[in-house]
Amino acid sequence: SAKEKGRNCYHYFTNSMQEQVERGGQLANDLRYALKKNQLELYYQPIVALGTGQIRKAEALIRWHHPELGMVSPAEFIPIAEETGTIVEIGDWVFRQAADQVAHWRREYQNDFQVSINKSPVQFREGGSDITSWLEHLLALGLPGQAVVIEITEGLLLDGSSRIVIDKLLAFRDSGIEVSLDDFGTGYSSMSYLRKFHIDNLKIDQSFVRNLKVDSDDMILCEAIIIMAHKLGMQVIAEGIENEEQRRLLSAAGCDYGQGYLFAKPLPEKDFSCLLLRHIHVA
Ligand code: C2E
Ligand code: MG
Ligand code: MG
Ligand code: MG
Repeated sequence: SAKEKGRNCYHYFTNSMQEQVERGGQLANDLRYALKKNQLELYYQPIVALGTGQIRKAEALIRWHHPELGMVSPAEFIPIAEETGTIVEIGDWVFRQAADQVAHWRREYQNDFQVSINKSPVQFREGGSDITSWLEHLLALGLPGQAVVIEITEGLLLDGSSRIVIDKLLAFRDSGIEVSLDDFGTGYSSMSYLRKFHIDNLKIDQSFVRNLKVDSDDMILCEAIIIMAHKLGMQVIAEGIENEEQRRLLSAAGCDYGQGYLFAKPLPEKDFSCLLLRHIHVA
């Protein structure tokens, strides 16, 4: 009967919600030990200059190898890390790992190579002295600030009237560390923040790239973003490039860099290093 079906639905729904809550609780708990137990790893995805085809930067993307649940996506565990506060410790680890790695690639591959890391708004809101300790780490490695790029999202700038956020962004600028605005075009905020904050690069969100075709609305939006960014002195990175057509259209529109499965998926450090070495020899 309909009533029975309804009851089944209800039960099914609560069960799955229950499971989600339990999984969330387990993840929150296990995440506290993930770093100590060496379960976290950084993967790297190439960011390619569309004009020359050269790999110029890498975005560091975190992976969690959970002993029972297998690979857990950052889309699932980063929000939990933000809620529980472990993101601060994880964020510092990501920074140090990525900095050590870029020092290596600058020696072995390209002396102006950059590594880009995602920085959570929670890391900004915490008072903390992360910038000072980050700069000390770079100094110890003999690296200039320019070796590192931090990726932030529009959400951070929405409540960017906060003194802490503004001061941290200013400190990054003074240190030479570049700032990229990630997932650009998906936020709700006005664009006034582009004037207010010092932003070096816009990353066009992959939702604009996915269905890119000549004369499509998405194409018009990409072209407008690229023109605006360049006039404001910013460079543009398109995310989610999966085919040759998208690469060609974005390149023709003057987009500076591209990132996506067409070039490579995010790779473990060893595979990324191999890719760079091969790249030197074919380039
Ligand atoms: P994001 O920063 O926007 O990273 C780009 C995401 O798009 C990555 O997902 C990447 O694997 C995926 N991607 C790249 N190229 C393509 C493509 O051609 N097609 C498609 N469909 N997807 C592509 P991933 O690695 O699962 O990361 C998801 C999100 O998790 C990231 O989005 C970022 O917001 C967050 N995240 C990842 N690592 C970190 C981290 O170390 N710290 C913080 N705070 N957040 C992180
Ligand atoms: Mg990113
Ligand atoms: Mg993105
Ligand atoms: Mg994202």
